[in-house]
Amino acid sequence: MSEEYKNPEETGDEKEQQTPENISKESSAGHTDDDDYEKVCFICRRPESRAGRLIRMPGNMDICADCMQKAFNSLQGGNLGRYQEILKNYPGMGMELLNLNELGMNSPEVPKRQKLKKKKEKEAETAPQFDRHKIPAPHQMKAQLDEYVVGQEKAKKAISVAVYNHYKRVTADPSDGVEIEKSNMLLLGPTGSGKTYLVKTLARLLDVPLAIADATSLTEAGYIGDDIESVISKLLAAADNDVEKAEHGIVYIDEIDKIAKKKNTTTRDVSGESVQQELLKMLEGAEVEVPVGSNSKNAMVPMTTVNTTNILFICGGAFPDLEDIIRDRLNKSAGIGFNAELKDQFGDDKNILSYVTTEDLRQFGMIPEFLGRLPIVVALEPLNEALMLRILKEPKNAIIRQYQKLLAMDEVQLLFEDDALKVIAKKAMEKETGARALRSIIEEYMMDIMYEIPKDDNIGSVTITKEYLENTGGPRITLRGMGLLEG
Ligand code: ADP
Repeated sequence: MSEEYKNPEETGDEKEQQTPENISKESSAGHTDDDDYEKVCFICRRPESRAGRLIRMPGNMDICADCMQKAFNSLQGGNLGRYQEILKNYPGMGMELLNLNELGMNSPEVPKRQKLKKKKEKEAETAPQFDRHKIPAPHQMKAQLDEYVVGQEKAKKAISVAVYNHYKRVTADPSDGVEIEKSNMLLLGPTGSGKTYLVKTLARLLDVPLAIADATSLTEAGYIGDDIESVISKLLAAADNDVEKAEHGIVYIDEIDKIAKKKNTTTRDVSGESVQQELLKMLEGAEVEVPVGSNSKNAMVPMTTVNTTNILFICGGAFPDLEDIIRDRLNKSAGIGFNAELKDQFGDDKNILSYVTTEDLRQFGMIPEFLGRLPIVVALEPLNEALMLRILKEPKNAIIRQYQKLLAMDEVQLLFEDDALKVIAKKAMEKETGARALRSIIEEYMMDIMYEIPKDDNIGSVTITKEYLENTGGPRITLRGMGLLEG
């Protein structure tokens, strides 16, 4: 009789995954007051903090002094005809609104998601913009990550130190001439090894906004696809349009290996090298002009400026052919002098990515300037069966705990035989999509159970057996206060 894995306690503190929507839901929860948002000029769409004090016009329109002046100038210069022409082309922007107002109707409101959060003046004067002491020390940060992310010890340690230093840098006083460099990071690791999950968990623990972008969708400005600034736009949305909060956030750019320099190409490389070029400035620190509450720039969307100097950029990718580059280099150097006996030692080293150097990445197609702005390179271990097994049951929000919680709501206990979990881990390894495969396998087998169990109130517990997963038997079911039933 094999041992059974049982959830020792319902922790009950699973947290939702951090998505931009969630963050904005959370952070807007206590701030429904319209006063938290800045007014925006009805004509040029600049917020009051940039355009200066706005003048309230009839129809609840706010107009900045510049636009007001321009309007007067064009009227005085006999350009009335042209001004009216402009207003005609932009319905709702001008005089006809005054008439609407006379009729007792209000001007169209700018939706709240397109408004900027006001900077809290009083707080800004007294409190530091960002409290570094709220950021846990590296060992505490790693301990918190340990609760969710299994294995990947080196990566968790490196990321904790880098993040801690990053937020120290944000609050450091530059007046002594010592300027701390940014600790942007590059995460290497096969698909499903937990790169995104690590960053998501980190942002949630630190309570900073996070934007996740996919490098494959980014193209050079002016070409079809998202331009680079859209990444900052996403971050601003995740920060509930609070520029200050966004400026201390984290941006994760996934699939960064897909923007490697294309080899042997004769056409313009609009989604490879040139995207790396355009990312350079943003990684280092630039003023990026972004639309508020939308990722397309147009006349009706207010714009704001986000400074990226204190945004932590983490790039991640699987870098599939990089392993060969590293192996070749290692074998070449092993072939010389005393190192000769090491030759072929790397042939089946699964953790070959951990030997990576900047030169290997350059050879892969990343440009040196780009690599220079990602000084911390961390390789994640590829997952093996033992790690898969741990991922199944150890994290605070482990997938089997989630199912146990769901069935516990129907007062049914869900148990997994240890051997059954091993079968799941083995099947997941075969799929070669990393830990992502675990969920799809469990979902496949749990579907029938989740469908059938609520039909019968007498069921007290369900045990997922090895036989059920190998399609040679069913789950073991026990009835409340009664004996065993083979499913
Ligand atoms: P990647 O970004 O490397 O392709 P993900 O971070 O999206 O992979 O991982 C997919 C899923 O696998 C995550 O949502 C997480 O649930 C799970 N996972 C992967 N690695 C781990 C790990 N080390 N510990 C816990 N869960 C993990």
